[in-house]
Amino acid sequence: MTNEDIERVVLTEDEIQSKVAELGKRISEDYGDREPLLVGVLKGAFVLMADLSRRITVPVEFDFMAVASYGSSTRTSGVVRIIKDLDLEITDRHVVIVEDIVDSGLTLSYLMKNLRGRRPLSLEVCALMTKPEALRVPIDVRYHGFAIPPAFVVGYGLDWQQRYRNLPYVGTLKPHLYEGDGD
Ligand code: 5GP
Repeated sequence: MTNEDIERVVLTEDEIQSKVAELGKRISEDYGDREPLLVGVLKGAFVLMADLSRRITVPVEFDFMAVASYGSSTRTSGVVRIIKDLDLEITDRHVVIVEDIVDSGLTLSYLMKNLRGRRPLSLEVCALMTKPEALRVPIDVRYHGFAIPPAFVVGYGLDWQQRYRNLPYVGTLKPHLYEGDGD
């Protein structure tokens, strides 16, 4: 049963769970005993991080960053502010950034540049969703879930005004709920 505010389901719970299992398996195979550090980008990635990490069968560590972009709530400006930095040092670590969605790519591009400056041994990206038509900077997503159309979606960690993050699927909202959002 879907939430009454959802117009259309874009990714079902089953589709997401089998893809996350596949990504976890690939990460386990690729890293073996190299103990990756998973860096979740808050808040959206907390759901993916929880599911993905339980599909990883090799030793793994966790950290989180929180970022905010200036601008309206449905569009990224490209100017990113770090609200919470990592607790751990990443120098000489194998780092995997875990992101819910890559839209323009500007947030991730900023984050990768920032983290690369700390000299990790390797830096890869796991993103459940990308919106290829909205991409403005090239991003190499090694562990990629789904390419979706460039519509605003909620669920599986993604919010609209802090709501809907707990939906186990991803969907578009009925337009009347966010129309009139100027900024
Ligand atoms: P980007 O910098 O790639 O344009 O945007 C990345 C961030 O914008 C994501 O981490 C997410 O927080 C937010 N975002 C992008 N697209 C969507 C979307 O369709 N729905 C929601 N709820 N957030 C989005």
